[in-house]
Amino acid sequence: LQVEGRLATCTTCPYCGVGCGVNAVPDGMGGLTITADKTHPANAGRLCSKGTALGETTGLEDRLLTPRIHGREANWSDALDLVAAKFRETIEKHGPDSVAFYVSGQLLTEDYYVANKLMKGFIGSANIDTNSRLCMASSVAGHRRAFGTDTVPGLYEDLEQADLVVLTGSNLAWCHPVLFQRLVAAKKANPALKVVNIDPRRTATSELADLHLAIAPGGDVALFNALLAHLADTGRLERAYIAAHVNGLDEALAAARADDPAASGLSEEEIATFLTLWASTERVVTVYSQGVNQSSSGTDKVNAILNCHLATGRIGRPGTGPFSVTGQPNAMGGREVGGLANMLACHLDIENAEHRAAVKEFWDAPAMPEGPGLKAVDLFRAVEEGRIKALWIICTNPAVSMPEADRVATAIKDCEFTVVSDLTAETDTARLADVLLPATGWAEKDGTVTNSERCISRQRAILPAPGAARHDWRIICDVAERMGFGAAFDFTSPAEIFREYAALSGVAGRLGLDFDISDLSDLSDRDYDALEPFHWPRAGTRQGGRFFAEGGFYHADGKARLLAVTHRAPASVPCAEYPFRLNTGRVRDHWHTMTRTAKSPRLSQHIAEPYLEIHPADAADLGLAPASIAEVTSRQGRVLLRVLISERVQRGQVFAPMHWTGETAPCGRVDALVAANTDPLSGQPESKASTVAIRPM
Ligand code: SF4
Repeated sequence: LQVEGRLATCTTCPYCGVGCGVNAVPDGMGGLTITADKTHPANAGRLCSKGTALGETTGLEDRLLTPRIHGREANWSDALDLVAAKFRETIEKHGPDSVAFYVSGQLLTEDYYVANKLMKGFIGSANIDTNSRLCMASSVAGHRRAFGTDTVPGLYEDLEQADLVVLTGSNLAWCHPVLFQRLVAAKKANPALKVVNIDPRRTATSELADLHLAIAPGGDVALFNALLAHLADTGRLERAYIAAHVNGLDEALAAARADDPAASGLSEEEIATFLTLWASTERVVTVYSQGVNQSSSGTDKVNAILNCHLATGRIGRPGTGPFSVTGQPNAMGGREVGGLANMLACHLDIENAEHRAAVKEFWDAPAMPEGPGLKAVDLFRAVEEGRIKALWIICTNPAVSMPEADRVATAIKDCEFTVVSDLTAETDTARLADVLLPATGWAEKDGTVTNSERCISRQRAILPAPGAARHDWRIICDVAERMGFGAAFDFTSPAEIFREYAALSGVAGRLGLDFDISDLSDLSDRDYDALEPFHWPRAGTRQGGRFFAEGGFYHADGKARLLAVTHRAPASVPCAEYPFRLNTGRVRDHWHTMTRTAKSPRLSQHIAEPYLEIHPADAADLGLAPASIAEVTSRQGRVLLRVLISERVQRGQVFAPMHWTGETAPCGRVDALVAANTDPLSGQPESKASTVAIRPM
């Protein structure tokens, strides 16, 4: 492709789960000129501020360019020998469950595949988890309970084909900006399209909404239970669809009727308006994100939403369906490749003996775990308690992003042996490593990613690997080879890994699962390089790329399950000592712990420092002046934040972004405040409902 007369590379934006296509042209000075890919199905020519500024984030200023052992530069051979020897010795002495990998939704599918293969098939432990646990694990658990597999039923275009789009627990305008742009355009083209935004906070997304419902934190189950009961009471259940394709209606309905809608924190009038609108609109899409997932009742919230769509048959047809939008560019690829501690590759089930045996045979694996490994919070607890003695953290910064971040940082520091692979030595986590391994970054890597609508796209290298940096898949294979597993990890390219992964998906397909891309298992290197974005199942093979319009669920009886769910309040309860509820989230122009976006001056112009958004009446009660510094404490930690007084948050609630770290005020390592309360099924932490105290500094 030519952009302004120069050859451009078509690749994929590495930030959010929208997964936009971009065209990149090197500017000859280490940067890139970025334009939107007009042909990519996710964005069709659109980009947001972060995607547009990608070319400003590829500088080498703080890059890690050689391996380091205990802070000293080392060569690859010594570093890899040490990593392999330490992992091997630890496993020999303490067993396979004494080691762990903590990986990332920023990894490419091919990186993820080999990491998962090494841990689950060759080390013989399932102690590999990913920062996607913090992002969408509740959606995975909810999908699997309802559908039998972790299947996203719909497509982005459903938002444009709907007559009602409900955005719950989602600040789409800031967190999935191109999807929001598509929704804005759809509403302009079809003024009859209604948008409802359910969020305790009024956000940029609320500006588009016809109805903003400032729900109580954790109130989603009560609201969607009220909806299920209302659908039944008003004759809106789709009885033929339920009879043919769904089990569990009576139990789910009984639980819904027993729940108290007032637990949603909404007025009777607000609830009635929402129920009437949803029930009377055939084409309805319910989009949900972290406000639903990051909760101690996250899985039940997901199922309360799925219940309503399944009970009305509003799923899998154009303009209908529940829609989980993921935070990260390859959270979905990680789900597909089995990067979570409780999954196997290709949606195979680690708790299913037949599935485990099939993967073991396919990999010719010497060892397979008998069940799930440790999920992120439990994994770092095991590090803290010394049960995990060798830890490899790849492409993520848990010392900032995990709940109880101070405790996690101490656990990593005190771990007997910690390896970190990353772009830079300048993260809070990298500073704690015994061995640092320099990895290539977004513009230097080849592979594939899957976005929130099951679209698999190529990410292509544009710039050469700097210094001695290596690709993550290469580093993992190098360690595997030194651990004695060379034959199974003698990959020479991401294309080879992709072919094996595609072939393994054929095993899943033969076992009756959804994820089967095995027609790509003999893709040539050239065809892999030229691979166009495609939705799985391959476009046109099933109901226009959607699932479940005609049933076809993945439980043994082919039916979906409605789940009986009941409202539960967030685990932390406000008290005299910690009276405020802390909601955390993203800002528009920064990403995660800012290791890339902080390099772009224009991205920092939007919001330059960490802040605490607080209601004017609460600020007055506490004596907080605008732009002053507030000390925010919880039972877990302390941060200092700039005060932003705003009626967008409700009284008794505050909001703080999760991106920043640092030692001097304002310093917002906000996850240090967050209690590690988790959903009992998904293990996802409740990052939006901790309790804190606030005082002026
Ligand atoms: Fe990148 Fe997401 Fe913005 Fe698209 S919407 S350009 S994927 S950050």
